[in-house]
Amino acid sequence: MPEQNSPKGAFIQRDKETYAIVPRTPVGLVTPELLEKIAGVARKYDIPIIKITSAQRMALVGMKPEVVDNVWEDLGTGIGPAVEKCVHYVQACPGTTVCKFGVLDSLNLGLRLEKLLVGFELPAKTKIGVSGCPFNCGEGFVRDIGVFGKRSGWTFIFGGNSGGRPRIGDILAEGLSDDQVVELAQKCLNYYKENAKNLERTARFIQRIGLEEFKKAVLG
Ligand code: SF4
Repeated sequence: MPEQNSPKGAFIQRDKETYAIVPRTPVGLVTPELLEKIAGVARKYDIPIIKITSAQRMALVGMKPEVVDNVWEDLGTGIGPAVEKCVHYVQACPGTTVCKFGVLDSLNLGLRLEKLLVGFELPAKTKIGVSGCPFNCGEGFVRDIGVFGKRSGWTFIFGGNSGGRPRIGDILAEGLSDDQVVELAQKCLNYYKENAKNLERTARFIQRIGLEEFKKAVLG
């Protein structure tokens, strides 16, 4: 959790003096205007580091606490959760918007999930990856929720994790529509919220309660 006296949406760095923030950039899409604003605040407030994260976001690192509110005001974006116990982000590959291999629209579904779920409070941080084809560039098998497209519809994965104790997520359903993905994602997260221990990631939760038990609860 953020330190009690942290400025809005900011988290302290290892120097114990400066803070970082992550502007909300849904599914990693940015505009020239946003990039100009980010460059502008970096110059104006002497922010020394802009780091592209593994989550397709940009962390602005190394700012004094007293400038954080002004930086947010100048940026005009939402806050990207980075340390809170909630859905942090949805990453998505370009899918049918750009990629020649894409069979389904991963950006559109990713944006829908992002809008609906980012910030949703849960027992631990949670991440979502959406891909437009079975190549899975959106890394859904190692995200808490993963989705990838096939000609027959979306395949839905739950309980994956990268990091120090990686786990390949389990396929819960196939051939889903956009609406069915959204509905199943909500069911899975609600059940996880009600039944997981504090700070228990989805991967550990599924290992503890068992996949069949989870499937029974969310698939009926
Ligand atoms: S997952 Fe498929 S559609 Fe998405 S970027 Fe990779 S190859 Fe393209």
